Amino acid sequence: MPELQTAPTPSTPPPARLAGVDVSLHEFLMNGERGQPRYQPPPDLRLPEAVFPRYPAILATAAEDLETPPWTEPPARHWTVPQIYRGLRGWMFPYLRSRLLPGDFHPIIAYLFTEWKCNLECHYCWAFNNSVKGMTEPVARAALDWLADAGAGVLALMGGEPLLRPQFVHKVVDYASRRGLWVYLPTNGRLLRPEVTDWMGDAGVATINLAVDSVEIKPSLPKALAPIRKHFDYLMKRQHRYGFTVFFNINICRNNLQDVRELTEIAHANGISTDYHINESPMTAHGDFKHLQGNETYITRDDWPRVDETIDWIIEKNQSGYKMVDSVQRLRQMKRFMRGEQGVWPCRAGQNSLIVRVDGTLAPCFPLYSATQDWGAVGEQKFDTVALDAMKQTCSLTCFSTLNHNLAMAYDDARVIKYVLKQARHGFQGVTGSMDQS
Ligand code: SF4
Repeated sequence: MPELQTAPTPSTPPPARLAGVDVSLHEFLMNGERGQPRYQPPPDLRLPEAVFPRYPAILATAAEDLETPPWTEPPARHWTVPQIYRGLRGWMFPYLRSRLLPGDFHPIIAYLFTEWKCNLECHYCWAFNNSVKGMTEPVARAALDWLADAGAGVLALMGGEPLLRPQFVHKVVDYASRRGLWVYLPTNGRLLRPEVTDWMGDAGVATINLAVDSVEIKPSLPKALAPIRKHFDYLMKRQHRYGFTVFFNINICRNNLQDVRELTEIAHANGISTDYHINESPMTAHGDFKHLQGNETYITRDDWPRVDETIDWIIEKNQSGYKMVDSVQRLRQMKRFMRGEQGVWPCRAGQNSLIVRVDGTLAPCFPLYSATQDWGAVGEQKFDTVALDAMKQTCSLTCFSTLNHNLAMAYDDARVIKYVLKQARHGFQGVTGSMDQS
């Protein structure tokens, strides 16, 4: 395969993206008085101890999976009725409920930031500060109960690196899945030791997002596959036993275009999906972000042809049957986003998705984690749809949130009707799961 990299000349430092399009909105968002007074859960709230193993027969196969060589060919997957029901309960039922019930706030997915610390330092990442304490048990318990009672179906753990405290995450996953939530765990994999994989699978995790940007470690991109290869091989085997899925989450950067292709091929060879992001600078200012200057991961105008070529290659693979979270249309949109030509789109953050910060305060979305506006806290959300819609006229211009983009399509009635009709024509079989292509 030809080498696609160029010399690692640092790019021009980009400003906070939002300030680049609207300084006054950026100042407004960053100069509020968030969550005053701070959220205080009842101090004696605790997460129940996670019973382990819940499934001793599966645990009994651990040594076999650990000791046998990695797969050369992934076996076919079989989904049980309870596993299919778990997916419907996580995504479909909350969506249908949100379409039927009055009101604007119907969370389908919530991101729970159990950590704001990380064990690595990817140079594009502003989402950590190792002096910030992780979420406490009372906050986690109160958040999970509130979200489940509010009808949320999907819980995505977030950080930082969630597995910095694996016992805590074990309790969160166990309790959340007992409360009926479909649980998504992102990790850089460094702390995903075999026993931790078993804790997560046994507790009912639905999917594990393995964030990798390169095959071998690069100084600016330490989320690599090589140092976690043994963890990955074990994960591959255990996903079939426990019934969760795994996918690679890959950030397309200026300096990893060759790795993007190699990781895509490795995922395909292992029968798992890939999900792509296009690297971007922070949405808002972050005082503790150290890499605004001379960041070799940032894509510059000169890089656009090489990035286009990489995206075209991914599209080709998608069309040839590689499993991907992103649709072809979404991949094409990356090129427009990279050029600043995205336009306004109807984001659903603060209505059908939200984030819970480590301290229990709320925000509409991950890009606005550091905003200081008061959007409420666990148990008392203060999202104002009119104000959010006004804000999104600007922030959506510079935001590439795939989750909120997908949610937006799910609330586009014309698109949904077209998609359902297309599914019906095919007997609800064999049609792409993406509404993008309808
Ligand atoms: S478009 Fe939506 S997800 Fe993106 S920054 Fe704005 S509110 Fe957040």
